[in-house]
Amino acid sequence: MKPSPFEYHRPESLEEALGMLARDPDESKVLAGGQSLVPMMNFRLASPTRLIDINRVPDLEGMSVSGDRLRVAARTRHIDVQRNELPGPLGELLREAAGHVGHLPIRTRGTFGGSIAHCDAASEWCQVAALLDAEMTVVSASRGERTIQAADFFQSIFTTSLELDEILVAVTLPVLGETWVTGIAEFARRAGDFGIVTATTALNIVEGVVAEARISLGGVHEIPFRSEAAETVLAGQAFTPELVVAAAEAAADEVDPPSDVHGDADYRRDLVRALLPRAVRSGMGAT
Ligand SMILES: Cc1cc2nc3c(=O)[nH]c(=O)nc-3n(C[C@H](O)[C@H](O)[C@H](O)COP(=O)(O)OP(=O)(O)OC[C@H]3O[C@@H](n4cnc5c(N)ncnc54)[C@H](O)[C@@H]3O)c2cc1C
Repeated sequence: MKPSPFEYHRPESLEEALGMLARDPDESKVLAGGQSLVPMMNFRLASPTRLIDINRVPDLEGMSVSGDRLRVAARTRHIDVQRNELPGPLGELLREAAGHVGHLPIRTRGTFGGSIAHCDAASEWCQVAALLDAEMTVVSASRGERTIQAADFFQSIFTTSLELDEILVAVTLPVLGETWVTGIAEFARRAGDFGIVTATTALNIVEGVVAEARISLGGVHEIPFRSEAAETVLAGQAFTPELVVAAAEAAADEVDPPSDVHGDADYRRDLVRALLPRAVRSGMGAT
């Protein structure tokens, strides 16, 4: 199918883009990499009458560290996140997660911020943002800039707390110290597909004890799911492989996954049991 007719605008500055968006927010859509929006338009699942292409807006690309925070500008392509040279566990997690995002042509066009704004619960970047309590910086023409915590940003499937006249400009993540171990494990039917279930983990292991645990699961809920049950099992305990298995069991009991053509709820719970320990092991350099 072809998309329904639309106007195409290509602003040269953020102010211009925001002004265009503010003129008719209900009918307009921001176009970044187009890797989700264009297929949705072709299927007529989205029919904006105005596209605001932000690809010529300056200062929306790149990654920079300031103190203990990493700022990923919204239009940074998946491939550039994959090629990041940030040392330490955050850089590693971003490189590893990016390798699961679609195929090379999708990674060269699709953007980090586009994934976050699109809010597909299976998206690797949404998982990472939920895992690390990312902060989204958004801006509108009339209200200026505001920041939104990941826990408030992801609302439900394909729905965020971004207002229609707002543009996501950056996502900020904590730079994790060397005692953190991060990992991701995903099961997809074919390489490059969205994961049926994804487990993303970050453990701060200090002198053999899990000082802090963060566990995020994809494919088990309509938005990325932080497993409090698994985090509680892990936190404050001496790190052992058995402890991780117990955490995976707690997570599998806690989730209430959907059933669909890709797998029923019990199958997804089994994947949680298998993938959570695999994510932790992958962070430790084991498989
Ligand atoms: C075959 C295929 C396989 C894929 N596999 C995966 C996968 O395994 N994992 C994965 O995570 N993704 C996957 N994707 C999706 C891909 O990662 C997209 O790049 C991503 O979902 C959206 O980013 P984009 O830059 O292309 O956004 P677009 O498609 O341009 O936009 C997506 C949505 O976000 C909005 N938006 C974009 N940028 C902004 C902004 N800065 N501010 C406000 N709103 C904004 C748009 O208005 C639109 O509603 C796949 C896509 C395809 C086609």
